[in-house]
Amino acid sequence: MHQLKQYWVAERLDKDLGDPWTPENVMSFKQVVEIDEKEEFPHSEIEWLYNWKLQHYYVPAECGGEFTSFEEFLAFVRVLCRRDQTIGIAFTTLFWSFITWMAGTEEQKQQLAQYIKNENGAMCLGYSEREHGSDLVGGDLTAQKVPGGYILNGEKWPINRATISGISYILAKTDPEGGPKCLTLFMVDKRQLNPDNYYNLPKILTHGIRASDMSGIGFKDCFVPDSMRIKEEGDGLEFALKGFQVTRTFCAAFSLGAADTALRTTLNFAIKRVVYGKKVIDIPQPRKVLVDAFLDILICDCETIGAARGFHIIPEQFSVWASVTKYFVTTQIETMINSVYTVLGSRFYMREEHDWGIFQKVLRDNSIISMFDGSTVVNLHALMLQFRQLTKQRSRRKPEAIADLQKRLEAIFSLEQPLPSFNGEKLELFGRGADDPLQGLEIALQQLEAFKETTDTDEEVLEKLIVLGNLVLEELNAHDELIANSKFEYGHDQSPELFEVAKTYCTLHAAACCLQMWLYNRTILGDFFAQGEWLVLSLHRLLRTMRPLPYSISDVYVENTAQELLKLYKEDKLFSIVPFQLAHSPINEDRSYATSKLQLQA
Ligand SMILES: Cc1cc2nc3c(=O)[nH]c(=O)nc-3n(C[C@H](O)[C@H](O)[C@H](O)COP(=O)(O)OP(=O)(O)OC[C@H]3O[C@@H](n4cnc5c(N)ncnc54)[C@H](O)[C@@H]3O)c2cc1C
Repeated sequence: MHQLKQYWVAERLDKDLGDPWTPENVMSFKQVVEIDEKEEFPHSEIEWLYNWKLQHYYVPAECGGEFTSFEEFLAFVRVLCRRDQTIGIAFTTLFWSFITWMAGTEEQKQQLAQYIKNENGAMCLGYSEREHGSDLVGGDLTAQKVPGGYILNGEKWPINRATISGISYILAKTDPEGGPKCLTLFMVDKRQLNPDNYYNLPKILTHGIRASDMSGIGFKDCFVPDSMRIKEEGDGLEFALKGFQVTRTFCAAFSLGAADTALRTTLNFAIKRVVYGKKVIDIPQPRKVLVDAFLDILICDCETIGAARGFHIIPEQFSVWASVTKYFVTTQIETMINSVYTVLGSRFYMREEHDWGIFQKVLRDNSIISMFDGSTVVNLHALMLQFRQLTKQRSRRKPEAIADLQKRLEAIFSLEQPLPSFNGEKLELFGRGADDPLQGLEIALQQLEAFKETTDTDEEVLEKLIVLGNLVLEELNAHDELIANSKFEYGHDQSPELFEVAKTYCTLHAAACCLQMWLYNRTILGDFFAQGEWLVLSLHRLLRTMRPLPYSISDVYVENTAQELLKLYKEDKLFSIVPFQLAHSPINEDRSYATSKLQLQA
């Protein structure tokens, strides 16, 4: 088992599911492609997960479950989604339970814990409406107060697991004139409703996640008791947005699972396929594409694992961090998957060839992740509304505050440090300008400078890290100056340029997370991680999107990273900064590629 205990559940789950390349195994690639072709909800696979008791890990320990940390959660959702995002997403609608863990009454929590743990319960999130999409306040579904409860009228659509779930979190309008207080959130237990007063909408045929229960739910004069209301009337928007902070961040787990499979199945091709008398993996251009894909995963890991731990330390900052992670990781991985398909060649498009056609399924399934739970534009918009505050806060940092910031950074990024329990009550709608990873950038740069005297990090690597780290700082300073001098307005009519500025901010954030992650874990995540060449390549890769830089920073580092990628592939380990053991796979029985070494040009 991995030395970090928080990765044990994921390791055990992957081992018990078995190798996905072995057709007979549950959720093998062959099986999940067949399920997708049939477009039928994967009941027996979901049941397998309930029998494994995975649902217990969605219920916090204080409510009688096994959930201990988001870092652990992220890892097991990732191994689930490396097999199949459809099943991963269908099972993980359980995660909406966080609304109740965060804002429910003791009775609601107990009822839900019992439903999830002992009755194989599932839930869905009913926020979107056909006519209103992202505009939650514009919704038409109403809840009219009557003695003892409310009367619901209206429809929610398109909703994942709307039909095949017992509990629906429904956002309803209780006061049309109430402005931001016009909405109320309900944990609607269908089993307690009169079946004549609610109905499910037909399955929606989709481009990806075809076997999902994509449908909707409608209410017609439907009575729901007061006991199904979450918090107070008018609090709906607040808790919907706070719940999104949790779930948006963890959409990254869906993406990272897909990224592993997209890269692994492409490697499985590139290592065996011979063209012009050479293996594809030994041709420089495809080799570089694969290395870049690996770097993208490592970068997204630093952002996501940092966020998962950050929730336990600085939940009040997640109005910013959740938007950054949801935007950055999902779109970076989408682009990465779109890049590696060039290496897979024509097989990327075929529904049977090469590993049962899993790649085309990953490509289709994964394309929804950046859209649901707040689309790319919605997340960038939420972030840019906080720019003014972020910039002000950064310019006003005091020495005492910086010392505290350093302590928090260590608690967040040092994977060996135990995490306190997550406290959802500390989530805030606005983070008051705090964003620790980027606001701690100067601390990281000072640590790098100090390393010149204290560590055995290769001199050249350290020098490059200092140069690149300072470029990140320059870009951040330029961002702050731009915001300080802009005619910034609140509201929905933001300029297209500001969306680009927000994208750059997210890229800088990821760069800062990479630096912080390396600084605090050099001695515990293995030699490849410690050497820091991947970090040089990652910072260079991120900075190249915002300023002109030479194409390559070191061919030697690229080659060493290629060797690490091949090693992880051969050993069936996750492509990750925490490369824990996956189920063993017969695809690795031919070990001849293990020595594959590109001859570097002098
Ligand atoms: C497979 C799938 C599963 C889903 N699951 C669920 C679910 O379980 N629960 C649920 O409630 N919903 C779910 N949805 C709905 C999903 O969250 C919405 O599709 C999403 O919120 C976008 O809404 P829309 O498509 O109606 O686009 P709209 O909100 O109508 O937006 C249209 C366009 O307007 C622009 N726009 C929107 N907002 C902004 C902004 N702030 N700034 C600038 N431009 C903007 C963008 O270009 C956007 O694409 C799901 C959707 C799909 C496809």
